[in-house]
Amino acid sequence: MDRVPYPTIQQWKSHLDLHSTPFLSSLPKLELHLHLEGTLTPSLRFALAARNAIPLVSTRLNKTFTTLPDLQEAYQLLEPSSVKGPGLSAFFEAYMGGMECLIREEDFYELAWAYYVRAKEMNVRYCEVVFDIQAHTRRGIAVETVMSGLRRAQIDARAKLKVKAQYILCILRDLSLESAMQHYENTALPYKHMIAGIGLDSNEFAHPPSIFGPLYARAKSDGFKTTAHSDVAQPDALVHLKQILTPPLELDRIDHGLDAAGSDELMALIQSKDHGFGLTICPWAYVRHCTEGRLFGSIRRFVNAGVKICIGSDSPAYVESNWVVDHLALLPVEGRL
Ligand SMILES: [Zn+2]
Repeated sequence: MDRVPYPTIQQWKSHLDLHSTPFLSSLPKLELHLHLEGTLTPSLRFALAARNAIPLVSTRLNKTFTTLPDLQEAYQLLEPSSVKGPGLSAFFEAYMGGMECLIREEDFYELAWAYYVRAKEMNVRYCEVVFDIQAHTRRGIAVETVMSGLRRAQIDARAKLKVKAQYILCILRDLSLESAMQHYENTALPYKHMIAGIGLDSNEFAHPPSIFGPLYARAKSDGFKTTAHSDVAQPDALVHLKQILTPPLELDRIDHGLDAAGSDELMALIQSKDHGFGLTICPWAYVRHCTEGRLFGSIRRFVNAGVKICIGSDSPAYVESNWVVDHLALLPVEGRL
């Protein structure tokens, strides 16, 4: 698989460490692509696991983590050894495995609150926070437990930090349409006052967005915004992107979708959209999946074509602690090293 060589990634990181960006830090921001569960830092995970007496294990590494440094090492997910191809990757194992420590209402509150505090520090004024409800209910966690914690954090963020947040209920595409509809009914509808839109994430391989047509039709008729992930370098990326962009789906935005830049047909479809359409782009999330030229060249093509993109951080804890400021800072690195 093509990817940015790890020494280049290290070079970028040390360059960014040495050249702080006061302009980017102070700039008022909005963040539209951020997974709540992807903000679970090793230290918070370690603390929550201890509080809830949950063992920290990795089946892939056949390892139990007993110290924080041990766990931190497992988060070096930009290293080449973490890439395993189209199946369940090290990323998904870490991301899904991290959730095991989230049990009680206060766990979800603390996770969300920790992000909102950080958002305030980064001068994020508005954010749309993705959460994976099915990843919690399938572990036996009640919808109400998750949503109460998220709601309390959302209210506190607005009142105490002046950070406005809304949530995007993201459906796990490797689960069934039936499960998606069930969670739409038991989460999206009763908690509509705190949810801005319906999304689609998780392992995209062999799970096209078209499967979820009935979900999107229902969500649109109920007034939700709609979006779907189109991960970088997926074998069927172009087919999936065309589904997102055309009827019957015709969603309101694309999360990622970098591959569209390589297709004149998809670029024309994107450019034919109205003013509100755009893509959320998370540069640090792509270094494992495409070359430097493709990463920066694709973003440049979007910009040159007048396509709206919004830089987000995706799952910052799982891309070696690169938050939205770091994703923004990576763009001007092109051509400077
Ligand atoms: Zn994402």
